[in-house]
Amino acid sequence: MTDADLLKEAERLSALLAEQAARHDRETSFPEEGREAIIRSPLNTALLDGASWLTFGQILAILSRGDASFGTVWLMHQGSGIAFLALPDPALVAFFNAEFRRGAWFGNALGEPTSGNQFLVPQQQARRVEGGWRLSGAKRFVSGGERAQYLVTSAVCDGQPGFFLIDKDDSIRVEEIWDPMGMRATRSQLLHFQDTLLPESRRLKLDPTQPNAIAAGLAWISIGIAEAAMGFAIGYAKERRLPPENRPLAEMQWIQFSVADMSIRLEAARSFAMRSAMATDRRDPDFPLLQMQAKVVANEAAVANSTAALELAGGSGYLRSRPIERYVRDAMSGPLMAWSPAVTRDFLGKLLLGLQGPPPG
Ligand SMILES: Cc1cc2nc3c(=O)[nH]c(=O)nc-3n(C[C@H](O)[C@H](O)[C@H](O)COP(=O)(O)OP(=O)(O)OC[C@H]3O[C@@H](n4cnc5c(N)ncnc54)[C@H](O)[C@@H]3O)c2cc1C
Repeated sequence: MTDADLLKEAERLSALLAEQAARHDRETSFPEEGREAIIRSPLNTALLDGASWLTFGQILAILSRGDASFGTVWLMHQGSGIAFLALPDPALVAFFNAEFRRGAWFGNALGEPTSGNQFLVPQQQARRVEGGWRLSGAKRFVSGGERAQYLVTSAVCDGQPGFFLIDKDDSIRVEEIWDPMGMRATRSQLLHFQDTLLPESRRLKLDPTQPNAIAAGLAWISIGIAEAAMGFAIGYAKERRLPPENRPLAEMQWIQFSVADMSIRLEAARSFAMRSAMATDRRDPDFPLLQMQAKVVANEAAVANSTAALELAGGSGYLRSRPIERYVRDAMSGPLMAWSPAVTRDFLGKLLLGLQGPPPG
């Protein structure tokens, strides 16, 4: 498939996702029909099959425009699924390649209740056993984790952080904590690990100089939300007529300025995300920093565009019968997800001022 075909396919799925997004948000239910559609679609293996980081990001923004919760679980599935490439045993690489291609679902179980933004620095200790380590602990906010068959997870193993691709077996129990303000369909639950085996053969040999889908993708989820909010605002401004002259809202200058600002923010976020994706494609040394900065710009654009669209729509936008209040709630999650804009500013500010601390973990 060409890049243009992949983007067209993403538009088709985005429309399907948008039809069910309000229901899944209201019911806090997993977008299963989206999962079933995407595992049959070439989108699911596009990155594995060599799509550029730019195309991957654009696909993710289109899907997130339809349902940002789905965009989030799909990103976690992609980032965790493709981690199989870092397994040392070629037979296991072949096994997981087949699993991923047949549509097995993967989750990212890295965040610990105590680690917060430092999700790459596990605190929980695993104990050495024959053939690997065993972990008793908990991982928090595992998007799509209930549905996942396999998880990427981490623990301190013999004093060092270890990352593993494991089966989600019976030693892992889901605790329902997910009753959040937004991103409700991600069902990002707490997972309890009870003496879970982390096999040595499943330990990932991660190369920190190589891109990772989750860090590359997060900005694009916010871009999808910012696009959805602007699309809503333009439609509503044309549709709503105000008494006494029955003139469209769109004729008011502040509305024109408001949608112009939305477009400027969106283009700034897209431009930064594209620059960061192209730097990632070229493996420019500064791509990780550009990804962090692009996420800040996109997170802030999504929050600003969705709240501006809510202001434009007034009380009608405040009702659940319109999607805008969901866009606002979903947009608010972007800056909370690691790394937060505060973490990025802390790192970048110190770097620029010659007070360089360690990169965020
Ligand atoms: C919708 C959603 C889905 C998620 N999905 C997953 C998933 O699938 N898998 C997964 O592993 N995790 C997931 N997460 C977790 C997420 O990525 C973050 O790791 C987590 O939200 C951050 O931890 P915390 O909220 O405990 O924040 P903390 O790290 O405790 O931060 C608290 C506050 O301190 C600030 N802060 C922290 N460190 C610094 C610093 N160095 N400088 C300045 N300020 C700082 C933060 O900005 C924040 O304001 C998800 C989160 C959300 C909201």
